[in-house]
Amino acid sequence: MIGASYQTDADFAAAMDARDPLAHFRSRFFFPKAKDGSEYLYLCGHSLGLQPKTVASYIEEELRAWADLGVEGHFHAKNPWMPYHRFLTEQTAELVGANPSEVVVMNSLTVNLHLMMASFYRPTADRHKILIEGSAFPSDQYAVKSQILFHGFNPADSLLELKPRVGESCMRDDDIESLIAREGDSIALIMLGGVNYATGQLFDMKGIAAAGHRKGCMVAFDLAHAAGNIPLHLHDWGPDFAAWCTYKYLNGGPGCVAASFVHERHARAFDLPRFAGWWGHNEKIRFRMGPEFQPMEGAEGWQLSNPPILALAPLRASVEIFHEAGMKNLRAKSISLTGYLEFLLDQQLAGKFAIITPREPQHRGAQISIRIPNRGRELCDRLAADGVIGDWREPDTYRIAPVPLYNSYQDVYRFVQRFSKAVL
Ligand SMILES: *Cc1c(COP(=O)(O)O)cnc(C)c1O
Repeated sequence: MIGASYQTDADFAAAMDARDPLAHFRSRFFFPKAKDGSEYLYLCGHSLGLQPKTVASYIEEELRAWADLGVEGHFHAKNPWMPYHRFLTEQTAELVGANPSEVVVMNSLTVNLHLMMASFYRPTADRHKILIEGSAFPSDQYAVKSQILFHGFNPADSLLELKPRVGESCMRDDDIESLIAREGDSIALIMLGGVNYATGQLFDMKGIAAAGHRKGCMVAFDLAHAAGNIPLHLHDWGPDFAAWCTYKYLNGGPGCVAASFVHERHARAFDLPRFAGWWGHNEKIRFRMGPEFQPMEGAEGWQLSNPPILALAPLRASVEIFHEAGMKNLRAKSISLTGYLEFLLDQQLAGKFAIITPREPQHRGAQISIRIPNRGRELCDRLAADGVIGDWREPDTYRIAPVPLYNSYQDVYRFVQRFSKAVL
């Protein structure tokens, strides 16, 4: 669907929904309801994905196994808890374009960033910098600054931040690559978001990984806003590590267990320093309870603890839906649906507000960020009262995500109607 063929009337949205091959997935999710029983217009999958209706049965299955089997559930539950995290491995690998041995579901996102940096951020006097986005998510900023301090360096010298050109909101691929070429010799680690949380800009991860490696840097991506949003090819693109949470586009539920990717080239890097725990220990001898840590090969070797089964269960329900829908199909709908949102906003609001998300589909995912100076917070509250759930980020950004798995063209149409009414 190209921009020129979108139309402004409500019939168009209904016709698009009628011929959307993914439309039926909407009925697999619970939509939040207002007090009067009406469903909210939910465009907030970039913050917390909706609950698949199958989630309760996945959790209940494990509650039942715990009730019936107690500790024996580790081996004798229908889905034994001992290897339970592995029930997620294949579909997680598929989602991010990795080999199964390169991914593991564990911990939460910021914890994983720290664990990965413990191994892959090894600053020296000549090469001590970390390159991040200037507008990186706060947790990432705190994490990298604390790593720099932990190693005895000073963020004022060792933190390098990418900034857009004056008057622009997004980074240019060429500027990123030339910065890496210029500063690369002093950069120990490049750690960028795959998709920037504020602007929705999708970075050229393949190009950045190649540019970083040419200069001998470690390259990592925080995929919080990319996993489940953009088709990824982590193995081929070749970053050293990546990490992401699973409660945004991946619908795993509030605070759900996160995931990490470690490229195959490090699968047997047993000489790398790492923080160890028994779940990363060679499983064949894990229960001999010996004192010497022997890491497992691949990403699993970075695990610390036995995982929270009740928190993994909802994620199983969700990744099965992703597997069924297919990331390629989701992306095709996403490009069309986000393009439609952009088209309607342009029609209604041209000149009044700026869209800061890149205009080209290849540079964004399922998110449009609108800059609303001054009265944005109040506007966001007014929209919420009118049944619209979007997201407000200080100081001036309203972010909405038409999620291809459960949002419709009519959702987008209705949103723009209500948004126009609220702002004009
Ligand atoms: C959502 C998000 C986080 C959240 O971190 P948690 O450890 O899951 O609380 C961190 N970084 C980015 C880029 C995010 O988008």
